[in-house]
Amino acid sequence: MTMEVDANTLEKGGAASVMPSPASDDVARFRAAVIAKLTYAVGKNPAAASDRDWFLATAFATRDRIVDRWITSTRQTYSEGRKRVYYLSLEFLIGRLLFDALTNLELLDTVRHALGDLGVDLDRLRQVEPDAALGNGGLGRLAACFMDSMATLSIAAYGYGIRYDHGLFRQVIKNGWQQEYPEEWLSFGNPWEFERPEVFYDVGFGGSVEAVPLSNDRKKHVWHPGERVEAVAYDTPICGWRGRHVNTLRLWSARAADPLRLDAFNQGDHVGALADQVRAEAISKVLYPSDATPAGQELRLRQEYFFTCASLHDLMRRHIDSFGDVRSLPDKVAIQLNDTHPAIAVAELMRVLVDEHDLEWDEAWDITRRTISYTNHTLLPEALETWPVPLMERLLPRHMQIIYLLNAVHLGEVRAKFPDDDALLSSVSLIEEGGGRRVRMGNLAFLGSHSINGVAALHSELMKTTVFKDFYRLYPERMNNKTNGITFRRWLIEANPGLTRLLAETCGPGVLDDPTLLEKLVPMAEDRSLHERLAAVRRQNKVALARLIRDRMEIKVNPGALFDVQIKRIHEYKRQLLNILETIALYEAMRANPAKNWAPRVKIFSGKAAASYHQAKLIIKLANDVARVVNDDPTVKDLLKVVFLPNYNVSLAEAIIPAADLSEQISTAGMEASGTGNMKMALNGALTIGTLDGANVEIKEHVGDANIFIFGLTADEVEERRRTGIDEAGSIARSPHLGEVLDAVESGVFSPDERDRFRPLTDALRYHDYFLVTSDFDAYWDAQRAVDARWNKKDAWWTSSIINTANMAWFSSDRTISEYAKDIWDVPVKPVR
Ligand SMILES: *Cc1c(COP(=O)(O)O)cnc(C)c1O
Repeated sequence: MTMEVDANTLEKGGAASVMPSPASDDVARFRAAVIAKLTYAVGKNPAAASDRDWFLATAFATRDRIVDRWITSTRQTYSEGRKRVYYLSLEFLIGRLLFDALTNLELLDTVRHALGDLGVDLDRLRQVEPDAALGNGGLGRLAACFMDSMATLSIAAYGYGIRYDHGLFRQVIKNGWQQEYPEEWLSFGNPWEFERPEVFYDVGFGGSVEAVPLSNDRKKHVWHPGERVEAVAYDTPICGWRGRHVNTLRLWSARAADPLRLDAFNQGDHVGALADQVRAEAISKVLYPSDATPAGQELRLRQEYFFTCASLHDLMRRHIDSFGDVRSLPDKVAIQLNDTHPAIAVAELMRVLVDEHDLEWDEAWDITRRTISYTNHTLLPEALETWPVPLMERLLPRHMQIIYLLNAVHLGEVRAKFPDDDALLSSVSLIEEGGGRRVRMGNLAFLGSHSINGVAALHSELMKTTVFKDFYRLYPERMNNKTNGITFRRWLIEANPGLTRLLAETCGPGVLDDPTLLEKLVPMAEDRSLHERLAAVRRQNKVALARLIRDRMEIKVNPGALFDVQIKRIHEYKRQLLNILETIALYEAMRANPAKNWAPRVKIFSGKAAASYHQAKLIIKLANDVARVVNDDPTVKDLLKVVFLPNYNVSLAEAIIPAADLSEQISTAGMEASGTGNMKMALNGALTIGTLDGANVEIKEHVGDANIFIFGLTADEVEERRRTGIDEAGSIARSPHLGEVLDAVESGVFSPDERDRFRPLTDALRYHDYFLVTSDFDAYWDAQRAVDARWNKKDAWWTSSIINTANMAWFSSDRTISEYAKDIWDVPVKPVR
């Protein structure tokens, strides 16, 4: 089935081009709305308006189209008495919202025409919107994709998080080194949010707990916090696909209960008078840039309790307004904890139910457990949150009492069931003993939840044998898997309009609602004319990326070369270093024999390192130093280029992914929980080179072994090697390339100004290669040569590419969220089709 495509919209792109072209009165109405907003909301006249003014006016006019639907959705949820889902996440990595809203409202063509009439280019406005970067990486991006899918499936849901004044740092590369600068997404206002100064909650810290005797020889505990901070609500409407349902993302901002101490101010202490305010408002000042590194800081714990407390009180108020009784909470509320950051919710909900609503302990515990569920995101031991008991006792004294009591009951039950198993007791305890006692937030989250899920099949299995091995013995029925997904609206329809149009023509426009229709591509996988049309789309996307690279980096890359892409946080387990070493080996081989029929490549890297993660920052420096040497060498001029694009974020991902030929997913097996970048690129037709890790395993099952390049040790083999010895020297000696590569790095080929610069990296490889880079190097090299061979047979390449896109429907976050809804939340879903 094919579709008529409007010739006017063809060259401009936009998913809307697969939809009917806009009616002229719609265009006129939107044009008038933008002018009105520009005049009365922004306060500018069209002749003096900047792109930023036009962006604000367009965003306000778009938001107006969302608000009526939002109010309708909210009213319906109330009147039908529906169960609500609350997604608690310390991170929401949203990116830009203008094209997202216009796509979901099917207004892209209308607005493009309306602005065109006013002499304004919508694609230019797109670029002036700052990214909402309220997250570090995959975990935060997952929360954003889930918000889109929950609205799309008409689930009554709220996202709860923190409205950070400053999101993830801006990365600047100076002389090849990462530098961090504050990010300023709010400096020109945020047109998408509604401030709700009247919606605020007191969040307490510190102070003391009073045990008030009751008549029936029991006690009521009253917490008298020593300090109070107000959490103020900011609401952003989240509109689902085709605008059927709109949910709320409610982010909390910290506000001092008393803005200043007037007595001190009047006595001339102008700074001291503001000290309390500064201390309070620090809570929502910055996103913690830690990415799986220990973050044992008091401010972080304050952030976690701050947003969890405000969110629980907000949802309790709503629940009691609607249903009158806390006992019905599990029937009408599902609380999903995105990782352990909101795990204090377990103790806070107990406190609210027992201390404030006077429920019996056992009943409160039953309600808590039936309401809360928890998603685990990592097996890295250093990323499992624990808090020192003295800090908890000082900051949250009542919660610490509750945790001790929960633990006593819990350990009593375990002892009854498994007498004399001290190892089991100490492993499932909420308190870690020895070397300073600490509260284990993962154990607290597990104990207080009816469902604990991992984020890919392999990850969920490994949870049962590693982090939650002993909890699995106790409560096997609570553990389950929910493989991550991505929203196709952002990662296909918005990011790759050219491909979207081609897919809608080929599979029918219904594919936008039901991605399983992509399977219609399978019988056409060898169709030469389809190959040509796909190649043309990819070519256009690569030309656009080449232009971006030229503009930002002053590097000229050939759009005809294979674009080999690794974009993600920089982390040793993600093994950018393996890719860089292979790049060096390839460079040496090309230089030695430039006439061989190499597949010309552009190696593209992008990603941020945690500010305190020295090895990761050194990896960035190495990538940049290698880039400089390779890009300056005329021998490999047409064969190899290396690019490190600074400041990776959602918008940059949207520019790179549609231009990717090869997707690098090469983590040490067993260490990447799921990955979602792997899904974004495979959906857009890139072939994956990767290890059997995270969701790569499931991608392989969906696309078939012939259409993915799998290499390296399995998770079991990694475990075995680590147990029996890694033998770095043996791997290096056996490799035809690796020794030479390491020698080159160590002799300063890439750092002539500082020979020993990369010693910390090469020493790790030679003597304590925990991430098994040396073990996997040769297998990776061979897999890359298989990539070359496929690339050189263009038909085979495009056949594989089609099979990838055709089988990616299962990786839609609509599928993931449908599973959460059915298996964990017990709420109905209403698909668009
Ligand atoms: C998808 C995404 C991620 C996660 O990428 P992985 O490759 O799964 O680690 C991180 N950051 C941004 C901006 C993303 O869009």
